[in-house]
Amino acid sequence: MTLDTPIEYVKGIGPERAKLIKNVLGLSTVEDLLNFYPIRYLDKSKVYTVSQLQESNLDIQLKGKITQVQEIQTGKTKRLSAKFNDHTGSMDLVWFQYSKWLKEQIPVNREVYIFGKINVFNRQFSMPHPEIEAEENKESDTRLKPIYPSSEKLTKRGLGQKFFQNILRNVCKEIPNLIEENFPEYLMKTFGFISRQHAFLNVHFPKDMEYFEKADYRLKFEESFFFQLGYGLKKLHHKTQSYGNPFPIIGDHFNNFYENHLPFDLTNAQKKVLREIRMDMKKPIQMNRLLQGDVGSGKTMVGLLTMLIAMDNGFQSCMMAPTEILAQQHYNGIKELLRETDINVRLLTGSTKASERKIIHEELENGMLSILVGTHAVLEDKVKFKSLGLAIIDEQHRFGVAQRAKLWAKNKIPPHILVMTATPIPRTLAMSFYSDLDVSVIDEMPVGRKPIITAHRREKDRLYVYNFCKDEIKKGRQVYFVYPLIEESETLDYKNLMEGLEHVMDFFSEYNVTMLHGKMKPDEKDTAMNYFASGKAEIMVATTVIEVGVNVPNASVMVIESAERFGLSQLHQLRGRVGRGAEQSYCILMTSDKLSKESRTRVRTMTETNDGFKISEVDMQLRGPGDILGTQQSGVVDFKRLDLINDSAIIKTTKNTVEKILEADPMLTRPDNLIIKNYYLRYYKGKNKWSKIS
Ligand code: ADP
Ligand code: MG
Repeated sequence: MTLDTPIEYVKGIGPERAKLIKNVLGLSTVEDLLNFYPIRYLDKSKVYTVSQLQESNLDIQLKGKITQVQEIQTGKTKRLSAKFNDHTGSMDLVWFQYSKWLKEQIPVNREVYIFGKINVFNRQFSMPHPEIEAEENKESDTRLKPIYPSSEKLTKRGLGQKFFQNILRNVCKEIPNLIEENFPEYLMKTFGFISRQHAFLNVHFPKDMEYFEKADYRLKFEESFFFQLGYGLKKLHHKTQSYGNPFPIIGDHFNNFYENHLPFDLTNAQKKVLREIRMDMKKPIQMNRLLQGDVGSGKTMVGLLTMLIAMDNGFQSCMMAPTEILAQQHYNGIKELLRETDINVRLLTGSTKASERKIIHEELENGMLSILVGTHAVLEDKVKFKSLGLAIIDEQHRFGVAQRAKLWAKNKIPPHILVMTATPIPRTLAMSFYSDLDVSVIDEMPVGRKPIITAHRREKDRLYVYNFCKDEIKKGRQVYFVYPLIEESETLDYKNLMEGLEHVMDFFSEYNVTMLHGKMKPDEKDTAMNYFASGKAEIMVATTVIEVGVNVPNASVMVIESAERFGLSQLHQLRGRVGRGAEQSYCILMTSDKLSKESRTRVRTMTETNDGFKISEVDMQLRGPGDILGTQQSGVVDFKRLDLINDSAIIKTTKNTVEKILEADPMLTRPDNLIIKNYYLRYYKGKNKWSKIS
């Protein structure tokens, strides 16, 4: 038997059952079986007393006597109930489904062991559907019994727990021939691991809970370790193999701007990040860097300064944004900042006129254009650069992998890539899935920003909310009202938006209201946006098109309608549209009265914190890592044992361990590391999907 042996050859399975198991559980080889882990264990080695009971998910065992078996009728349903006593107290046993046979079988007034989960209701303990064993029949086997994730379909065909326990017992007998060690002695010692063979045995048939914990730790550790190793090697490979244009010069463009035109002092975080970027671009290796910074932390300025460095080194830059509005806004902002310089900047989007387009194409090719700001339009094949040295992508999650690849091809030597994102990636995810990228974090807001005050309000508070908005407008501020727009029900949502607009126009009749939604034409959007940005309209009613990046510092109130329908990161993004000026800003989450548990958690998280990283952690717990990474990468999170939410300590340790090992021995040629290398090459290579952003 080897790991690759098809399961039909395992004693007790055969071709028929193999087919069924494969269909239902997707297991086809011996290796799959070994990685088919129990979901829980029955521990019959310990006996608890009623006085020791507490809330827990584990099955536990007690010893005592059963008395007073009776049927209880409530409405149309019947249940069977009994009292269980030991010398410390008593509790109820309950059966919601039972046969006459079961009722007669319950051994009354005899010493028995009962076994099952504990329920707590009104501080009363009970055990539903206990397993009962008379004392004289008790099995002597005290190893923990595995309970495998089975299904009714399998159980009906005779493949129940007993079957899987037997099969796995047979496979586990072969462990000495099947499982080889993959950690060197020094790691075993440092972390006190049990051997790999013991780990597999004890994860299926633990000697006791302590052994199970050790086995569990060891297997999670190695899963994370080899995963990290893959990323580590990939990163090293990138650093040694992929060439790029070195930007050694900090020249006139940068210095002149920095000294004479910078409208504010950079925050320390911006300076730190800029240094990291400069260090990267000095080298003849392509930069591949993710710039994370909460909304409003000032990523655009970092981007601009980076583009000036590219210019000082004789290269062109482009900055891509996911929407026309954003591109336009970046363009306006950059144009404004550079107005006293002679730097040539242009905007290219889907709605750029043909005549302007022609100029752009020409100037890009003859090198007269230094900075191109745009949308996806810059990716088109017609757009050719003389020497593209740097591409900045704002709000990474909106771009697909294929689109990013197009950027690479725009220069013979690939441009440096800086991806700016305001969606903080939870730490464990960043550690696991972006470990082949370099990450810079702006973890500080510009001075003078007041934290946004967030409140939760319901329909009955609407008048109060509206009046509050009026007061703010009277102080000279502006207000957003945002409505959800979800694709599946676009017409319905559109109706909501229109009704909302009417409502707002009614109440705020003395003010100007403008509207923005995704169905509008680009120039209509522009007009609406400018109307608000210039202060002509005090109120903007919009859908989530304004979620990303829109910057109107004078807007100080964000009212989010039906806030329960938004995801956490979306709410955080929306909130980031206010709090951009010096005034105190407010975010008001309007919801209906009844909220699901998850919606309540989201709303509460928003009112409790402004910290994007904390919010992203909660978001991951609510939605799971796959959703956060996006569908393109969700397949990557299929770990066998490792849990990205609960095992962050292990992930952190393995990441550090791998880094240290590769730093000392990048090719893994040291004799004691060969065991790692060989295992990696045989089992892991090619299994990782890389997160390459460029
Ligand atoms: P984001 O990181 O969300 O893209 P922006 O780059 O749009 O943030 O910056 C938000 C606002 O903060 C802009 O109005 C910008 O001019 C301003 N800003 C950026 N850096 C600083 C700074 N160091 N001090 C003061 N204001 C700053
Ligand atoms: Mg931005």
